[in-house]
Amino acid sequence: MNVYDSDRMADVLAPLGYSPSSDADDADMVIINTCHIREKASEKVFSELGRLRKWKEARRRDGHNATIAVAGCVAQAEGQEISRRAPWVDVVVGPQAYHRLPALVTEIDPAARNARIDTDFPVEDKFDFLPEEHTPRGPAAFLSIQEGCDKFCTFCVVPYTRGAEYSRPAASILEEARRLVGAGSVELSLLGQNVNAWRGQSPDGGEWNFARLLRALAEIDGLKRLRYTTSHPRDMDDELISAHADIPQLMPYLHLPVQSGSDRILAAMNRHHTRDDYRRIIDRLREVRPDMALSGDFIVGFPGETDRDFADTINLIAEIGYASAYSFKYSPRPGTPASTDENQIDETVKAERLASLQQLVSAQQLAFNMEKLGTVMDVLIERPASRDGQKAGRSPWMQAVHFPATSGEIGAIIPLRIVGAHQNSLAGEPVDSNSVEMKTA
Ligand code: SAH
Ligand code: SF4
Repeated sequence: MNVYDSDRMADVLAPLGYSPSSDADDADMVIINTCHIREKASEKVFSELGRLRKWKEARRRDGHNATIAVAGCVAQAEGQEISRRAPWVDVVVGPQAYHRLPALVTEIDPAARNARIDTDFPVEDKFDFLPEEHTPRGPAAFLSIQEGCDKFCTFCVVPYTRGAEYSRPAASILEEARRLVGAGSVELSLLGQNVNAWRGQSPDGGEWNFARLLRALAEIDGLKRLRYTTSHPRDMDDELISAHADIPQLMPYLHLPVQSGSDRILAAMNRHHTRDDYRRIIDRLREVRPDMALSGDFIVGFPGETDRDFADTINLIAEIGYASAYSFKYSPRPGTPASTDENQIDETVKAERLASLQQLVSAQQLAFNMEKLGTVMDVLIERPASRDGQKAGRSPWMQAVHFPATSGEIGAIIPLRIVGAHQNSLAGEPVDSNSVEMKTA
């Protein structure tokens, strides 16, 4: 979502003459778009700001403009603190107010000691004020359709930093999707903190659920792949599951976080689902789409987590079998209920649990990649690879695939035979026309 928001900030600033630069030493402005989800992410902001102070001094000495803005959820949660600890910051803008960046940047007073801070949750819809995309997003584009969260898991800051759950109206989503496809994107990843909770105004003024929105998007001519992230198990309803059976563009890969395999911990997390609820959802998804691959999020060392609770997480992972997963040590976040729980887990225990969980997930990921050896699959060509003479793309299951650059053009979806499988990627080769009928995906 921050990648999407950063692109949108560039769009908003384009009329002022700004365009993205790959080199800070040449830039007139640096925007740090921040994440507050775990302590480690938010700590990075202050060390980066220390470096930027020197950048600003050097740029100013050379007679250039040098504006520093902090955006995103750390800006939202710690706006005043940023201005106090780093008075060389010019603008602080929260995730719901970045459409106001041009005004904030224009109003900067070089003599002022404090940053211009805008961490409102404005009544106007940010999306109504965002201009059209300034630069094409490439073959695979992100599209935010839902923001915020009302679920209040006891570990999570999202409801406080991103605000209440909000769904963009379908007409505005469809318009942006058509523009993106018109500009050359063939894959769209719909984004939201609770993307499958999307429930919004339909173009005729009624109401649609998420499955209905997916069906409308799938009708866009030229849109070949659809993904969505991040989903909550509670919003994985029957209609959405059956959408996976009959919308051909929906890719057979779903990121569906469960956080823990222990019902006791799931209750303490306020997740409102059990381990069995989660298992049943996965079973039904695999019934309608036998090739469905799963990814998840896991937190280890949530307050009060015992060895037995952790063992339940491990055996759930073993039962499900993931194609990939993200896992984190529990990080106490200011203002969240779990952060003041007295039963915090020792850091060394968290580290041990994380290491053993990651070992299992890595083995599952490698096994999943190895299964693809020798098969032929459709790969969306996304970009030149870092290795000369190679291009890189994605499989239907989100695997990175490398292959000879001459295999096809960026933006094309081509069949490739998988000839190498590694921990984090696959190697592919073009398929000669005689063997295309062996295609498995
Ligand atoms: N809405 C999604 C997740 C959004 S946050 C959901 O409900 O699943 C992304 C991930 O960050 C979470 O799934 C969780 O695994 C992790 N996370 C959130 N808060 C955390 C915390 N305090 N400590 C460690 N990990 C956390
Ligand atoms: Fe955070 Fe997701 Fe829970 Fe919302 S549902 S509070 S975003 S973890």
